[in-house]
Amino acid sequence: MILIVNSGSSSIKFKMYENKNEHLNILVEGIAERINVDGILKIKFNNQIYEYKDKLNDHLSAVDSILTKFEELNIIENIDNIKGIGFRIVHGGEKIIKPCIITKEVIEIIKRNIKLAPLHNPGALAAITAFKQTVPKAKLIGCFDTSFHTTMPKHNFLYAIPYEYYEKLGARKYGFHGISYDYITSKVAKILDRNENNLNLIICHLGNGASIACVKNGKSYDTSMGLTPLAGLVMGTRCGDIDSSIIDFLIKNTEQTLDDVFNVLNKKSGLLGISGISSDMRDICQAKNEGNERAILAFNIYAQKIADYIVKYANLLEGEIDAIIFTAGIGENAADVRKAVIDYIKIMKLDMDDNLNNKNYYDYLKINNDDSEYKIFKIRTDEELMICQEVQKFITNE
Ligand code: ADP
Repeated sequence: MILIVNSGSSSIKFKMYENKNEHLNILVEGIAERINVDGILKIKFNNQIYEYKDKLNDHLSAVDSILTKFEELNIIENIDNIKGIGFRIVHGGEKIIKPCIITKEVIEIIKRNIKLAPLHNPGALAAITAFKQTVPKAKLIGCFDTSFHTTMPKHNFLYAIPYEYYEKLGARKYGFHGISYDYITSKVAKILDRNENNLNLIICHLGNGASIACVKNGKSYDTSMGLTPLAGLVMGTRCGDIDSSIIDFLIKNTEQTLDDVFNVLNKKSGLLGISGISSDMRDICQAKNEGNERAILAFNIYAQKIADYIVKYANLLEGEIDAIIFTAGIGENAADVRKAVIDYIKIMKLDMDDNLNNKNYYDYLKINNDDSEYKIFKIRTDEELMICQEVQKFITNE
């Protein structure tokens, strides 16, 4: 069995797979949340949802609680049946370029990168420590959101600020959502029956957080997020690309501190900030369809920005594009958004089939019509499965 863990500062999401006839099936999934608050553990197993109130004082007690329930619910007989644990880790900096066994050196790198991902890396470290202690025989594997983008060339990842800030502090573009981009790249290779290393793709990962990647010869060539996930596209609550002087302007002209302003840019901007209604695209689409002007504005700015990036990346790929892909919550489900994005692109011959765009699908669907010069897909991403496949490689290569 392989357990996949996505741990934040106050929650641990988990999904356990078992390998049945060469198929990775989900056995159980759930979340331990409100760690160090009041503690709730939710477990979905055998189509039933179990919910427990449990005092989860820290990550170790949350992990203890999860494993105890696994035994009580007869999900596993013995903790040692968990052969591998894959951790989703946000920041591996420049050094970690692929999934790896979590050694002391890797833990040091995750610690060193706390300054780049202060909200994410500490939660991952706490979970790693807890599982190391409680499931000592399992192989612990780290999969990093930044790894996929370590192939970006310097001219795409450097900011035009004094070079020493890159050299001394590592101030550069890193990019995120790499596990999803990796999954989608492999998926498209399978769909098109092509070698991954020859694929040029533009992948739009549109969830609450959103970014877009330019994939050249199967590798990240550029992406829209930066040093942090604040840059790039308009998101649910993040502003995306802005003139950085806005920060100074807001501090000087409002009663807010630097921290306050960053809170605004991360948590109160994006779709929520423009619309004043919601950060959730479903609410924005509904309000837009009811004629709400600010929702229409938020929707249009959101779609325009994605279109701008697609055109920019099409230029980087010199027009040699095998597919444009929409994925994650909005990319997979919001037909209106996909349509608006394609409609905003005027200098590439893209033609969407409206029926296919609106059609239900399970895994993936090609949504362009025959007049389109480029293929367009909606594809469901699966970051946990991607991590699980990576962990599986380490277990079978023993
Ligand atoms: P996260 O980044 O938290 O993993 P998701 O990938 O789950 O986020 O995406 C969440 C977003 O997807 C929300 O804005 C939600 O409104 C949007 N979404 C989900 N289903 C639909 C739908 N049917 N139509 C429009 N938007 C949707």
